[in-house]
Amino acid sequence: MFEGITRGLSDALKKLRGRGRLTADNIREGLREVRRALLEADVNFTVVNDFIGKVETKAVGQDVLARIDPSEQIIKIVYDELVALMGPVDHKIPQRGDRPVVLMLCGLQGSGKTTTSAKLAVTLKAAGRKPMLVAADLQRPGAVEQLQTLGTQIGVPVYSERTNPVETCKNGVAEAKKTLCDVVILDTAGRLQIDDALMNELKQIDRLVKPDQVLLVVDAMIGQEAANVAKAFNDALELNGCILTKLDGDARGGAALSIKGVTGVQIKFIGTGEKVDKLDEFVPERMAGRIMGQGDLMGIVGKIAEIQKDISQEEIQKQQEKIEKGTFTLDDFRKQFEQIAKMGMKDLIGAMPGMSEMIPAGEDPEVALKRVQGMIDSMTKKERKDPDIIDNSRRRRIAAGSGVEPAEIKQFVHQFDQVRAIMKQMASMSMWQRLKMVSG
Ligand code: GDP
Repeated sequence: MFEGITRGLSDALKKLRGRGRLTADNIREGLREVRRALLEADVNFTVVNDFIGKVETKAVGQDVLARIDPSEQIIKIVYDELVALMGPVDHKIPQRGDRPVVLMLCGLQGSGKTTTSAKLAVTLKAAGRKPMLVAADLQRPGAVEQLQTLGTQIGVPVYSERTNPVETCKNGVAEAKKTLCDVVILDTAGRLQIDDALMNELKQIDRLVKPDQVLLVVDAMIGQEAANVAKAFNDALELNGCILTKLDGDARGGAALSIKGVTGVQIKFIGTGEKVDKLDEFVPERMAGRIMGQGDLMGIVGKIAEIQKDISQEEIQKQQEKIEKGTFTLDDFRKQFEQIAKMGMKDLIGAMPGMSEMIPAGEDPEVALKRVQGMIDSMTKKERKDPDIIDNSRRRRIAAGSGVEPAEIKQFVHQFDQVRAIMKQMASMSMWQRLKMVSG
């Protein structure tokens, strides 16, 4: 699977290897190949353009890490963006105490709905749940019998009646409640293609049975067309997720990479064979690894994470020294909260010395961060190093550049001075003294 995309990507990335330095030009050249590989793998055009744009912005803007081959940095960015494109995923099947949880499976005929219903029941049973299958596909000849056979094979009850699909689903859920099953899987009807009759039937079931989750079963072999199918179903039914089947065949990457980008609907599970135990959770990291087909990918990802950690520790150490020497500048201050934001701990911004004073009560720390960043960015290098030189005319210029009032600049610089003094004082204290000072 994914052979084409894997080969295309590794060719593109090979070209970047051994370049020594990455420039905007050779990054662009390498990414052209990545783009071609994605399009050849039948990934949606808009998704590809978006993806390449994101990788390029990150790659061009990135500091070259001294200890790492620049091409490896790009590989890591491509990997991270693939993961971001397909994730995040929530695999949890909800549970309720008062009634069975209802999962409605829908999709085109032949996508693998009936098989997947049974696979899902197997997975749930293995997790200690008590599933029931409902045979509501009265469209495809033999679908009910197929589900009954599968049910017997896996030891899961199958509810069926030959009235109509809506009644079948409603009564199936009632039966599950009566027999103390905790999760019901509705195997609904498909059509060869999307049509109004199908959508109306599904919408009716959705309205009357109110499933907890509506999951679309879609065949990976149809490539990026899967995204269009997902869009049509999502528009009609508000999908909670997709299950991508037949990934064991020679499906190209198109479906896996296009669905989330086009519809925003996550892929939750993947089918990797005809047998009932061939259902896996969809893990974007694993899929990105497969798509990139780099044997050493995880090595690279681990190495870069390690170096980034080292670097931020070195950086913290450096800043600590600056604080102690009293040479902490506004640049350092900006770098410090940037790091905190990068680490994804937005709430910490408010707790950072200096920042808390600069955030008016009730203001979103992220908005405050942007404001402060704007003010610092509008200063010259000299002003950032020595804010004392900021006089009236400089203040007006900075204020105009960052869209705030000159008085705010004055207040900010004043606060920074105070913060710097406190930090210097704290740096020379023992841990015990610091704690005493903070706790009053
Ligand atoms: P339905 O019409 O959507 O209910 O489709 P079925 O469940 O009958 O599946 C159609 C065909 O696809 C059957 O031959 C299944 O065995 C096959 N199938 C379903 N899922 C997978 C899968 O993940 N891998 C492979 N190789 N075949 C699958």
